[in-house]
Formats: sequence, C-alpha cells, structure tokens
Amino acid sequence: MTNSSQDPIPPARPVIGEREIEAAVRVLRSGMVVQGPEVAAFEQEFAEIVDGRHCVAVNSGTSALQLTLLGMGIGPGDEVIVPSFSFAASANAIRLVGASPVFADIEPASFCIDPDAIAAAITPRTAAVMPVHLYGQPAAMDRIMELAQRHGIAVVEDAAQAHGAALHGKPVGAFGLAGCFSFYPTKNMHSLEGGMITTADAGLARTLRLLRNQGMEQRYANEIVGANMRLTDVAAAIGRVQLTQLAGWTEQRRANAKVLDSRITACTVPPVADGAQHVYHQYTVRVRGDRDAAQAHLKAQGVGSAVYYPTPIHRLKPYLGADGRPGPWDLPETERAAAEVLSLPVFPTLTPAELDRIAEATNGTAGAR
Ligand SMILES: *Cc1c(COP(=O)(O)O)cnc(C)c1O
Repeated sequence: MTNSSQDPIPPARPVIGEREIEAAVRVLRSGMVVQGPEVAAFEQEFAEIVDGRHCVAVNSGTSALQLTLLGMGIGPGDEVIVPSFSFAASANAIRLVGASPVFADIEPASFCIDPDAIAAAITPRTAAVMPVHLYGQPAAMDRIMELAQRHGIAVVEDAAQAHGAALHGKPVGAFGLAGCFSFYPTKNMHSLEGGMITTADAGLARTLRLLRNQGMEQRYANEIVGANMRLTDVAAAIGRVQLTQLAGWTEQRRANAKVLDSRITACTVPPVADGAQHVYHQYTVRVRGDRDAAQAHLKAQGVGSAVYYPTPIHRLKPYLGADGRPGPWDLPETERAAAEVLSLPVFPTLTPAELDRIAEATNGTAGAR
C-alpha cells in the first residue's frame, strides 16, 4: 500500500491487481473474448463455494435475479416476497418479469428479512420468496426454508453481497431453488461486471443457459425466446483470479470487523446470529443520534462512510402507489434501519493504522453531536 496515513479512507477499495490485468490481457490477446472456456471454468470453480451446485454465469447480479425468475416461469399475477431494506435490484428483478414485489420487514439484529413477516405476507398468489443476505450476513435460512417448504413456495436467494457466507456451515446460494451473486467492483469479489446463478436443479440450470443466450444451445437452433445476458471471457478470467483470493479476503474482512467490534463504543456494532458466518460486505453500525453529523465528523477525520440504504425500496418512485404515496406496508424495522445505519470501511486491504483511525473517528462522533 502506498497510501499515507493521512489519505482519506474510501468506503470501498476494489482490487484490480497485476494478476487480474494479466488474465484479461491473456484473453484479449487470444482473440476469443466472448462467452467460452473462461466462463465454463469460472462456473466450475465457483461451484466449489456453493456445495457443488450448477453454476450459470451472466453479465450482472441483476440479470442473475431476473433470469432466474424468468426461468422459474414467474410473471404477471405472481407475487414475490422480498425485503424493502435492500438495493433496488432485488425488487427491480421482480418487476422486470412482470411480477409484484410484496415487501416484508426485517429482523433488527441481522438487517435481513424476518421469517415471521414472510409468514404474514403469504397469499394464494405468492410464487417465491427472495431473502437478501444483506451486508454479507446470511438471512435466517433454516427458518425460511422450513416455512417455504411447508407452503410450497420457491426460494431465490439474493446473495449479491454474501460470497462465502454460511449458516451452520451451509453456504448461501446452496439453500434455495436458486442463489444469485453479483461481481460488481465493490462486492466481495468482482469481474468488473458480472453475476452467477447457482442451483441444484439441472433442468432449471439448462433453461437458464438457454435464456442467457437467445434460447440457443446449438447456434441458430433456438428452442425458446431468450435474452443476451452472457458474461464475456475477459470478465470471467478476472473473476477466476478474484475467486482464488476470496477466502483470504473474507478472513481479512472478518478480522477487520473483529477489531472494529472491540474498539467502537459510540455506535451499536453489527450483531451476528448464532451459527452465521458473516462475510462483512459492509460493516454497518447503528448511529444513536444525528447521522449526518456523524458522517460529517468521519469525513473531517478522513474516514469515508456510506448509507446503504437511505430510502427503502417501497419509498422509491417506481414502487409508490398510483396516488404517489407508499403502499400500505407495515415496515417499522425497515424504516428505523434506513434512518440509523451507517457503513464504515471494512475492505480487506485496510492497514492497521487505517483501522485505528476508523475506530477513533467513529468514537469521536459521540462528541460531534
Ligand atoms: C449489487 C446487488 C445486486 C445487483 O448486482 P449487479 O451486479 O449490480 O447487477 C442485487 N442485489 C443486491 C442486494 C446487491 O447488493
């Protein structure tokens, strides 16, 4: 690291190292740059972190979610239960296939969807539930799977923020009918842009491979109507290099979080559920008091921070009712989290001096109000 101790610490610091650059150049020089052997190898290697499930690479995490819902035949008239406290992509994928998101509240400790709220939101039109492993912490998948099986509802995991997270030793992306990962630069690993769908269902995997490539397995022998959501071999080569580093980076994120847990006293540090392997895509505290003032204090101390997410999805313009107001959702924990959360830097390349500065500046926010 060439950063001096006085340089501002960004909220995230994506890695594009020499190995990533060499891998991309190698594929570019080969002249075979679109979906090919690198994508196939990336899929095989990614399977190792999702209990050997079938893996289908696509061009983004949003595409992964959208294609999965399409492949499951979810569309107009169907409801999908999803948390409102997430990135808009979770609900956008539902709306893009013509289905309706039904917003359920979160558990205050984990920031993830509350199984009791799912149970209360089930209707005869419920086609699926989409838990989001927010900030890198697994949702309560043991309870959610039991509930979904009892009601005959499919589960699609939004694992965009949770590569390598696990509950009682089982990795996310290996619980539901399908799991969807993102390889956007700020995620725990990236391929510039990219996504991966994981499933134990060989039939669904084949449908998804068709859907991402115009409905073709053999060229010009189109079997169904499909899209172009292919990942390039250049992106896959970068993703493969990143994947080899994921375990080490996850360990470092967890170690960084442990330091912050032990040092931060001015805010509520993120609780971890029993049996959960949290991979700290974000290290998210709750601020007691004026969050804007806290963020301004951090900024003055050279510590970047971010609010994920200041506006819950149900309050975003495309999700308002015809009258321009939020629907009749009852989401008190979602509203509270949106008002209180603040994510601090936790990325793996933080130095010990930077961690010190983050903890001290965060504790200084108590005096800033
Ligand atoms: C990033 C993200 C997505 C979308 O992934 P993209 O690769 O950016 O399309 C979906 N859901 C969640 C929770 C995310 O954080």
